[in-house]
Amino acid sequence: MENVRELDKNNCTGCRMCEQICPVKAIEIVENEEGFIEPKVNEEKCINCGLCFKRCPQLNDIKNNRIDEIKVYAAKNKNIEEQKQSSSGGIFSILANYVLENKGKVYGCAFNSNLVAEQIAIKSKEELYKLRGSKYVQSNTQNTFTEAKKDLDNDKLVLYSGTPCQIAGLKAFLNKDYENLVTIDLVCHGVPSPKLFKKYIEYLEERYKSRVVSYEFRNKEKNGWGLTSKVVFDNGKTKYINANLDSYYKTFLKSYTYREVCYNCKYANTNRIADITLADYWGIKKKIPNFYDEQGVSAIIINTEKGNKIFNKVIKNISYIKSDISSVKEENHNLEYSSKRDKIREKAYIDIDNKKFKKYVKENLKYKKEFKDMVKSMIPFKIKKYIKGVLRNSV
Ligand SMILES: Cc1cc2nc3c(=O)[nH]c(=O)nc-3n(C[C@H](O)[C@H](O)[C@H](O)COP(=O)(O)OP(=O)(O)OC[C@H]3O[C@@H](n4cnc5c(N)ncnc54)[C@H](O)[C@@H]3O)c2cc1C
Repeated sequence: MENVRELDKNNCTGCRMCEQICPVKAIEIVENEEGFIEPKVNEEKCINCGLCFKRCPQLNDIKNNRIDEIKVYAAKNKNIEEQKQSSSGGIFSILANYVLENKGKVYGCAFNSNLVAEQIAIKSKEELYKLRGSKYVQSNTQNTFTEAKKDLDNDKLVLYSGTPCQIAGLKAFLNKDYENLVTIDLVCHGVPSPKLFKKYIEYLEERYKSRVVSYEFRNKEKNGWGLTSKVVFDNGKTKYINANLDSYYKTFLKSYTYREVCYNCKYANTNRIADITLADYWGIKKKIPNFYDEQGVSAIIINTEKGNKIFNKVIKNISYIKSDISSVKEENHNLEYSSKRDKIREKAYIDIDNKKFKKYVKENLKYKKEFKDMVKSMIPFKIKKYIKGVLRNSV
């Protein structure tokens, strides 16, 4: 193989490492028909140096300095406001705060003003809200690998958080260890395309006759820790949407809409690429009932000595309990294997540009609301909790 032009497009994660590393800027980033970005080689500029494929994290294995025995914790942020604003236990915010207090920079995913998910850098705690919360769509790394390298070479402390394939892209780009770099990867299910998310937002705007000004996938105001999204419209109205009743969210959870490579993810295992891995500790109620918290519990996996060091620096801000990897795995299959590709994926993006979102969802994604989900969503959260408690305590 001479360069990424021969990389099987179904094996590309769209991390942008090749574009950033190319010495003659011969790689452009283009959007494919599904709306995912991928590299395109400009043959006139290409000097066939091969750097793009020699460093591509999909074609090469990236080293991590894994400790012999990884450490696993169930954990939550002691600052309840931060915990509430985060997807699980709010551990990302604790690590980010530490780096910002030490004049460092934190890279992570934010929605821009057009609700496009992008990797950005922040320097102050006032901006941290932008990175909090999971955005269930592929984020664009833009030129953050280049920017992070400059920061690292200038001895700045850098925290880079993202999906494992993005962390692999960053590491491949840097090609050496930096003592001042800490990385966080998320246990990741897979990512839908930005085009699909855009189409969904346009559909909401048409349906509710107002522009969407903010969208949160994991809002806790109504139902606590779970899968409720909050949409705020320009006309001042707010809607809370149950994931099971929402076509975009439900088909995301069913793994119908991911980038092809996500079904064959190199990182869906416990050999993690980052210093620290964060996840929702979904099984906590069964495993350690006393530690369950309605506002969310994270699973922290410490993979490297560097991860351990920073964890110890912030430990005073974390309420935690020791756990083990097999307990976390039980309800987090992406620590063992990639999300399964349903045959619906075959048609998931066909004609996406030419169909109205509603028609597209019905025909391509075969999504229809299920009666049981509608009934469940009508029962108020407090009553559901009460019923669960009664059932648990009954003999
Ligand atoms: C696409 C995606 C799929 C996920 N799938 C699972 C899963 O299957 N099982 C599981 O246990 N956990 C999953 N997570 C992780 C989980 O939702 C939480 O992000 C994690 O538990 C950390 O939560 P927190 O409360 O510590 O902090 P939060 O404040 O909620 O964490 C936010 C962090 O997520 C990053 N982030 C948000 N959206 C994106 C994005 N689109 N791309 C890259 N980085 C992003 C931010 O940069 C920040 O670092 C997923 C996250 C994403 C983004």
